[in-house]
Amino acid sequence: MKGAKAAIERNDFEAANSIFRNLIDSGQPLPEEMPYLFAETLFEIKQYDNSANFLNKYLELTGFTGSHYKGAQELQKRLKSPLTDIQQCQLCDRRGYRYKTCFTCEGKRQIEQDCNYCKAKGVVGCSRCSGSGMITKMNIFKIVEYFECEKCAGKGRLTCPVCEGSLKEVSSCQTCNGSGKLSSEDVCDHVEESHEH
Ligand SMILES: [Zn+2]
Ligand SMILES: [Zn+2]
Ligand SMILES: [Zn+2]
Ligand SMILES: [Zn+2]
Repeated sequence: MKGAKAAIERNDFEAANSIFRNLIDSGQPLPEEMPYLFAETLFEIKQYDNSANFLNKYLELTGFTGSHYKGAQELQKRLKSPLTDIQQCQLCDRRGYRYKTCFTCEGKRQIEQDCNYCKAKGVVGCSRCSGSGMITKMNIFKIVEYFECEKCAGKGRLTCPVCEGSLKEVSSCQTCNGSGKLSSEDVCDHVEESHEH
């Protein structure tokens, strides 16, 4: 805790951040002021959503009686604008992390893969004749008669109804749940990358 405070003193918020994270990971009981100081640190390194979480935690734990109550209120005010920016930005998720293009579908939201229904053969066995191409009927003299299957014209196979013979099936990308994008670990600056260079 001392180390974290010293890091904050010298404006080394990245260092303070990793000290706080180690502290949390250590499972030791955390000092009462820790969530507040961590929230201040997270604000400085632009992790606004995280900052708001720890600030709320601090206020929840200490109410009006916390030694940093005033500072906490001020931080709450300072958080408003960056949190609004995150909400309004289309380039980042609701926590403020930049979206990146899904690597599986390359942003297309769908992927083309081998047709699962026909196992990429393009044809499936005819269901009416069980693939034989013939249908049997018993006539009135109890003699079995053979007829060509009408459904498959005697071929015993039908064009795959899913891929219609293309062998490919287009389905929603599982990696990005069909959104075409994934969250990254980069904090968003809410500025569109320029494509002119
Ligand atoms: Zn995808
Ligand atoms: Zn048939
Ligand atoms: Zn198919
Ligand atoms: Zn953004």
